Amino acid sequence: MTDTALLAVLLAAIAGLLAGRAWAAARRRGDSRDRPPYRVSPHYTQGLHYVAAGQRELAISELTKVAREDPEALEVLQILGNLLREAGQVERAIQVHQGLLARSDLTRAERAYALASLGTDFSKAGFIDRATRTFEEVLEVDPKSIHALVGMQKLHEDQRQWQEAYTVQTRLSRLRKTEDSLVLGHLQAEMGREALQAGRIDAAEKAFRTALSLDRRVFPAHLGLADCQAGRDPRQAAAVLEDAVQTSPERAYLAFDRLALAYADSGEPSRFVGLCEQTIRQDPRDWRARLALARHLGREGRHEEAFGLLLRAVEANPQVLLPHLEMWRTLRAMGLEGEVVDRYIATAEESAFYRDPHVCTACRYRADDMLWRCPHCHEWNTFVEERLGPTAGAKS
Ligand SMILES: [Zn+2]
Repeated sequence: MTDTALLAVLLAAIAGLLAGRAWAAARRRGDSRDRPPYRVSPHYTQGLHYVAAGQRELAISELTKVAREDPEALEVLQILGNLLREAGQVERAIQVHQGLLARSDLTRAERAYALASLGTDFSKAGFIDRATRTFEEVLEVDPKSIHALVGMQKLHEDQRQWQEAYTVQTRLSRLRKTEDSLVLGHLQAEMGREALQAGRIDAAEKAFRTALSLDRRVFPAHLGLADCQAGRDPRQAAAVLEDAVQTSPERAYLAFDRLALAYADSGEPSRFVGLCEQTIRQDPRDWRARLALARHLGREGRHEEAFGLLLRAVEANPQVLLPHLEMWRTLRAMGLEGEVVDRYIATAEESAFYRDPHVCTACRYRADDMLWRCPHCHEWNTFVEERLGPTAGAKS
């Protein structure tokens, strides 16, 4: 995300350079005195070098000197403002952008750009209302401003305004000629979840179906659709969940509880065994399928089989606590009694250090639960369960 922003800043810098060159060419003179004053400053070249090298603080320091020498340097101020925001100096970024907007010599495009930058500053500073108003102002001047639409989209998502986010994302996809069906699908799934919570089953079902027609990888849409159907048709719910497992086997475990229930409600509890076995065949290191199957067998009194499954799960992923816990329950069920075992289980269950690690593949942000939208880089569908093997664990 930061790299993309930096690249955007760099491209803006290059655009500024080209504009400067065109300006110089128009004058048809080779004399350096005819260049805009900031371009002959050594701090300008040095500043661009630091932007290109990704050294933000040094770039800010050099470009600040250029802006002080030549307060008219429009491009330099645009770049400087964005760099300051990226560096977390939002207050200074706001000052720079407001200063630019106070000028009377800006073209329409330059004004729109400065205004959109200011909106992004407000958004980063958490001034939601001011950011919204500013982006709306940009869109009045330039309805196709990608910059403002991206800013709006993020604001809507942050405020869980899924319908509005969906509308803006549709506009963005059309303008950028990109697919974005995965993001659109997740937004529909969020709308579905909200409708389901409000008891509007029909609306929820419609949203989940739209989500899946956009992209079958939208896992929460499968889960939501199954929830809509579970009460009246558990067989149908099971079919939806099986489809989810097939589409994204690495996330199968998120459907296990619902699947076990759906199979039980449709009078075929043993089908859950088959499903878990199939998942284990596909990925022998999938401790969650072993754990789910062990619990299922334990409830049926088949403790020996559960013990075997858990032993394999512990071997494959010794760092994960849940199989250990289930193992102790199984041992107790198999006849290993005593206060010591009880105390161990209680202690392990209450352990504050327990984490269920999920990690964002885009920015490495970690969270205890599966998240569909990363709170750090704001990407959709980037979380995976972090699986450390025994050898990897031993090395680190
Ligand atoms: Zn992320």
